[in-house]
Amino acid sequence: MDAEKLAEDVRMCAACSKMCRHVCPTFFAWRSDSPTPHGRALLIHQEITGAREIDARGIEVLYQCLECSHCLTWCKPEIDIATIVEERRREIVAAEQRPDGLLKMAEAIRKDKNPFGEPHAQRSNWIQRTESKNPPLLYFTGCTAAYREKDIAESSVAILQSLGYSVMVSPDEVCCGSPLFRTGDDTTGRECAEANADVLNSLEAKEIIVTCPGCFRALTDDYSRLGVELNKPVRHISQLLTEHLDDLPSLSDAGPVTYHDPCHLGRHSQIFDEPRRVIERMAGREISEMERNRENASCCGNGAGLRTLFPEQAKIIGSERIAHALLTGARYLITACPFCKNMLSSQAPDELRVLDLPELFLECEKSSDTKSD
Ligand code: SF4
Ligand code: SF4
Repeated sequence: MDAEKLAEDVRMCAACSKMCRHVCPTFFAWRSDSPTPHGRALLIHQEITGAREIDARGIEVLYQCLECSHCLTWCKPEIDIATIVEERRREIVAAEQRPDGLLKMAEAIRKDKNPFGEPHAQRSNWIQRTESKNPPLLYFTGCTAAYREKDIAESSVAILQSLGYSVMVSPDEVCCGSPLFRTGDDTTGRECAEANADVLNSLEAKEIIVTCPGCFRALTDDYSRLGVELNKPVRHISQLLTEHLDDLPSLSDAGPVTYHDPCHLGRHSQIFDEPRRVIERMAGREISEMERNRENASCCGNGAGLRTLFPEQAKIIGSERIAHALLTGARYLITACPFCKNMLSSQAPDELRVLDLPELFLECEKSSDTKSD
C-alpha cells in the first residue's frame, strides 16, 4: 500500500463512527477501545501526522489483531485493517522490535522447520505409503496436522487413498511460513517458501493438496507475492472432495451439525460452498448454520500470532465461537482448518464433538464398523 493511500485510509478510520468494532473479536476479548480496527488505525494516523510515535504499547496493540478481516465486511469505505496491520508489523520486525514470543517462534522455524520446536525427523513418520502408476497427489501436511493434530493428517491420507489416489508426503517439507507472513517476518518466511519450492517442484505429482487454509494462502498468495513459483496447482482438500461427493461415505445418525468457516479459507480465499457440500454429504444432513457464518463468521481466536502472545484472550475468543455453535443445538462442530480445530476443540464441552473436515471420514468409517459389529 503506498504512503498516500495508507494516510487517507487511517485518517478515514480515525474519524469514523467505528461500528465495525462490534464484530472485532479482540474488542470482545479485551473490552477496550485500543484493540479495535479504529484503535489500530488511530495509532498509525497519529504516527503519520507526527502526534505520537508507536511505542511498546502501540506495538502490543498492533499484535493484538487476528488479521481475521471481519471488520472489512462491515466497513463501507473498505478500509483493510488486516493488511495495514500486517504491513506495519513488517516494519516492526525490520526494526527488531517484535515481541519475544514471536522471535522465539521464528527461531524455532529456522532451527526445527516448525513453530512448535518439534524434531523435523518426526514430521512425516506417521504416513503409510502406497504405490501407484498414476502421478500421485502431493499432500502438504502443514505443521499443526503434522505435530499437534495427527488425526487430521492420517484421515486426509486415508480419504484420498479411499478415492483411489496415491498420496505422497515429502519428509523434506518445512513450515509453509504462514505464522511468519502474518506476524511481519517476510525474511524468514521467504526462506521457508524457497525451501518448500525446491522440494515441491522437484516431485512428480498432479497437484498439491492442503488441509490447512493458512498453508493454502501462504503457498498461493504469499509465495507469488514474493516471486516464489510452484510448478503445480494448489487446492484445499474440500475443493478436491467436491468432485467425489457420490463416493464419500456418510454417517447414519450424525444429529445436528454446524460448520465454522476458517478466516483464511472463507473471507480470505472465498471458499464457502465446497466444505459445506462435503460436510453435508458425509453428515447425511443439512448444516445447521450459526448466526454468524460465511463472510460474517467469527474468528476462532487462533490466528496471526495471537495465541502465542495472548493465550487467555485467544481462549476467550474461542469460547465465544463455541457458544455460537451450541446455540444451533449441534452435536458436531466441523471446521476445515487444523488450527481452528485445535483451538475450538480445546474450548468445547464434552457434548459437542469438534472435528476437522477430513476427520469426518474416519468418523464415518467408525460408525460403519460399529453397525457391522
Ligand atoms: S475499519 Fe471502516 S468501519 Fe471500522 S472504524 Fe475504520 S473506517 Fe470505520
Ligand atoms: S482484522 Fe479482525 S482482529 Fe483485526 S481489527 Fe479487524 S476484526 Fe479486529
